[in-house]
Amino acid sequence: MNDFEPQQCELGGCTNPATQISPEGHVCSSCAASIGVDYRRAERRERRALR
Ligand SMILES: [Zn+2]
Repeated sequence: MNDFEPQQCELGGCTNPATQISPEGHVCSSCAASIGVDYRRAERRERRALR
């Protein structure tokens, strides 16, 4: 069990070292930034759905 083992970005075609965990899996900081846009949208939608 090596939970702290460094991993590569799991986005297709990206080989940068993963630094963050996103809904898409382990991603590098640049991919996390690009995903962040969609993630915010999803959060907003969820909030609307909850209310
Ligand atoms: Zn990446």
